[in-house]
Amino acid sequence: MINKILEDNIKKNLKILIQEFNSNMSSAKIKMLQNTNVKNLYNIENTNTISLFVQNNKIYYPKEAINALELLSTNPDFGKNKNHKAYTNENLIINDNTFSSYVNHAILKGLKPIDYYLENTLHECCHLIGIVGASAIGEGITELKTRQIAKKYNVITSGCGYPKEVFIAYQLEQILGKEIIEKIMFIDDLDKQVKYIKEKLGANKANLYYEVYQKTNKIFKSYINNNYSGLNAIQDKIYAYDKLNYDEILKIINDFQESN
Ligand SMILES: [Zn+2]
Repeated sequence: MINKILEDNIKKNLKILIQEFNSNMSSAKIKMLQNTNVKNLYNIENTNTISLFVQNNKIYYPKEAINALELLSTNPDFGKNKNHKAYTNENLIINDNTFSSYVNHAILKGLKPIDYYLENTLHECCHLIGIVGASAIGEGITELKTRQIAKKYNVITSGCGYPKEVFIAYQLEQILGKEIIEKIMFIDDLDKQVKYIKEKLGANKANLYYEVYQKTNKIFKSYINNNYSGLNAIQDKIYAYDKLNYDEILKIINDFQESN
């Protein structure tokens, strides 16, 4: 049952994403996704983390999330508001949600593993079509696109992923433009991204992107390199995310906007 629901959702999401981004996707990737049986595009298994990820053209759904959610179900508020959403249509793109907000949502909604998987599938499908993650800016852009698509097509999502990085990605999209962002998000190499921006928009904006990319990543590494597994996985993840502070980078962006 859980497999059928996931497979239908992956198929639906991929169709939307390919329709939206096909002009920037490689034709080999489009062909591969259209010709591969959806059963071969995901695994549900123990991955030693509660986070979802994409590797070798497969979405990995963590079995460990089942234990983590069981732990939450002992909370007296668990399932108190079964229709709870962490966002509205108005604040889906930019909001103050964090991983902590997501846990609060999970408790109120009485989140089941399938809900957790579904709320994160669109983001992972973005990686599946080739949107590059792993870095702070990569994940920020991936989640920004996830939210924009979720809003446009009314697709289920968490609205809580990488909020601090989304805000920076959103600012970069204001400065560089949607067209450039949607081009570079498929380029898996910082130097090539910077070269592309320089050709299209000049050295000033290319340098800003480079500086923001490097500085956010340095801070982000402490969070993303951890595996978040075991009994304290949720607490560890909340704590590590709350600690991320990008004030210095927000100032760099702000100064750029004021002087250009
Ligand atoms: Zn991601």
